[in-house]
Amino acid sequence: MKVELSRFNASCSCGRKHEISVKNIIIEAQAVRYLKGIIAEYHNPVFLCDSNTKKASQESMGEYFEAYKVLELEGSDIHADDRQVEWVQKRLPSDADVLVAVGSGTIHDITRYMAQERSIPFISVPTAASVDGFVSTVAAMTWQGMKRTIPAVAPVYVLADTDIFAFAPYRLTASGISDLMGKYTALLDWRVSSIVTGEFFCEQINQLELEALGEVEAVLDKIRMQDKESMEKLMYALILSGLAMQMMGNSRPASGAEHHVAHFWEMEILNDKLDALHGEKVSIGLLLCLEHYERLKQAITSGQCRVNGHSGFETEILMQTFGKKGLYEGVLEENGQNILETVRPEVLDNALPLIKEALEELPEAEQMREKLSLAGCVTDMKEIGLQDSLKELTLRLCPYVRRRLTLLRLSKMLDYPGAIPIG
Ligand SMILES: [Zn+2]
Ligand SMILES: [Zn+2]
Repeated sequence: MKVELSRFNASCSCGRKHEISVKNIIIEAQAVRYLKGIIAEYHNPVFLCDSNTKKASQESMGEYFEAYKVLELEGSDIHADDRQVEWVQKRLPSDADVLVAVGSGTIHDITRYMAQERSIPFISVPTAASVDGFVSTVAAMTWQGMKRTIPAVAPVYVLADTDIFAFAPYRLTASGISDLMGKYTALLDWRVSSIVTGEFFCEQINQLELEALGEVEAVLDKIRMQDKESMEKLMYALILSGLAMQMMGNSRPASGAEHHVAHFWEMEILNDKLDALHGEKVSIGLLLCLEHYERLKQAITSGQCRVNGHSGFETEILMQTFGKKGLYEGVLEENGQNILETVRPEVLDNALPLIKEALEELPEAEQMREKLSLAGCVTDMKEIGLQDSLKELTLRLCPYVRRRLTLLRLSKMLDYPGAIPIG
């Protein structure tokens, strides 16, 4: 399947002309056969992979690995962080003129960062349908302990070869399903922010994503059987989510409070290092947020939700938690002007009925838990080594990892039964 890109580049009903930089996306068996023609234009292509992704793609990619320089990242615990970037910087030839990312999220983030730094293009060969970041223009990196979203470049070509990604370990695929389902709360947060602050919102992007989500939800059982056609639908939906980020120029349509939960745990403020994939953390983040949002919806419906006017920065607890890890300054820097101060209490009060309407479009937490569970995804904090007792403090602190308005952050301005403490 060749993804028809012209529809994403056209003028949009939202009034903007969205632009995407990807030239071609192919999702099919033997998609990597196109690589030969593409890299023939370049003098010194360099491939980036790790030992797992190299092995997983060996059959289809072996001839390229033999013919070109390959940077194989070492070790089993590879992260997109300053340490790995430095490793690549030292080894990447100065005359490399195109990079080929052969891997999943981490390899792509490191590659897109390097491509940006060297001002050269890169080509994406995803080895698993595990994240939505393949075509993203930003790299999710850990920089000196802080999770950051760093401007980078999107690939010029995506060659998603079903013969490679459909055979990835199922845990990776399940993680991709969870990352995708996380769009429900991400899109809700975006809409809510647009309701209360007038933040730009594109209905068409929203619809595109919801459609792709629906298509994947309809074939979750087949994905679990690793049915190729259904796996391609999952890959398409993940890539589409990345395209939505390109169209907006940021990760707004793909990352809301559920991702803040995941990033928060990755920063290891309350917890030790987790042995969990990105999507597995998003999976729990999604369920926690859905549960919490349901409580809010019920409170608004029953008239038990009031604006409390609290918009302060929770300095004391942030110093006690982030501060203990030496990350308080990083939080201040990321947050800049407190985003809650951009919300006028009377506007929020008037917006409650609209927020309720938006919440009614969300899937119910229990239904989502069942779906995820049937699809073999993580649904319980304990599965990723976290105690339930961390739930409340996680929801309280995670909104501070990004300066992005979510309903979770906004809920600090509201009083309702089951509200998270503030102060
Ligand atoms: Zn639009
Ligand atoms: Zn994600």
